[in-house]
Amino acid sequence: MLVQPRYERATRDSWMAQVDFDLAPFTIAWEVTRACVFSCVHCRADAQRRRHPEELSTEEGFALIDRLREFGSPILVFTGGDPMMRRDLFDLIAYADEAGLRPSLTPTATTSPTKQRLRLAALAGVRRVALSLDGPSPEVHDAFRRVEGSWERTMTILRNAQEVGLSTQVNTTVTTHNVHLLPGMVDFVRSVGAVQWSVFFLVPMGRAQQLSMISAEEHERVLTWLYELSREVDFDIKATAAPMYRRVAAQHSDGADPVAGAGFSFHDGLDRPVQGVNDGRGFLFVSHLGDITPSGFLPITVGNVRHDDVVDVYRNHDLFRALRDPTRLSGKCGVCEFRDVCGGQRGRAYAVTGDPLASDPACAYVPAGWTG
Ligand code: SF4
Repeated sequence: MLVQPRYERATRDSWMAQVDFDLAPFTIAWEVTRACVFSCVHCRADAQRRRHPEELSTEEGFALIDRLREFGSPILVFTGGDPMMRRDLFDLIAYADEAGLRPSLTPTATTSPTKQRLRLAALAGVRRVALSLDGPSPEVHDAFRRVEGSWERTMTILRNAQEVGLSTQVNTTVTTHNVHLLPGMVDFVRSVGAVQWSVFFLVPMGRAQQLSMISAEEHERVLTWLYELSREVDFDIKATAAPMYRRVAAQHSDGADPVAGAGFSFHDGLDRPVQGVNDGRGFLFVSHLGDITPSGFLPITVGNVRHDDVVDVYRNHDLFRALRDPTRLSGKCGVCEFRDVCGGQRGRAYAVTGDPLASDPACAYVPAGWTG
């Protein structure tokens, strides 16, 4: 049986068009658990084998969702760890869907996301499933994931997800180990029927090391290549943790609208915003213990949903306000003519320099006003 997920809702779509990032995030990532049987080389979460005894409970999860509905209809990514390790996952997803949020799921490629469970996820309200693939063949991917057979399992999950009516997304983390394999991913992403290829540029935290990060010059080359590619392919390309993709798009758009030119929207109910999303600016992260941070890659805890109002923290906390104010940036980003549309990846600036408002070290661009 083909399940038809509840993709489009007029109220949610009109919210998407007018969301003000000072009032609401476009995307919220909720790390429902940090437990995961994998121990991937570049894991942000430094995932653990067992669930933490103090994870947010089901009731606390419902209470969190009740508050998140105040934001309107943001995407709510159920992430981890491996979110499938929570027995109440589908109850939480269904509750979020009923609340008007847009649930999305990032399962680990274990045997847990069976076709039946993916069908339940779709029925609960999940619109898209995102799977990680670091290369077009098993060798590189399985070495990254440190699990033999994980590539094959990922392929099975992708196929099963599509058969139950879910749209699928392939996430690829770019490091020095696989950057040369990216061209080979293009036909592969197309062949597996993914609607989006999310190319994630490493932020050196958790188990990810600076040594694995490609250079600023390599970032420039890959982002330019991705932009050119985005004009040819029939799937959406997203450069994750690389807001300078917007600068690259603007520089290469020949006077055309750089946002439209970069294909920043897609029609499966998870359309992308016209404003640039960045840590704390259109993005919010809640950890498995309820800690509130601007993103999973900017681990500065500014509250906890157990005793702080998540809506108030997002709108009014000094750090969130600073992250939404490009005039507060320093270094190259502070004088850059693209700071409003880009602003640099804040988590990477923090990971490398200790200052979340410093320049993004992955950007090779030299602004006209830079004298440093
Ligand atoms: S200098 Fe900073 S704001 Fe300018 S393009 Fe690079 S990362 Fe973006």
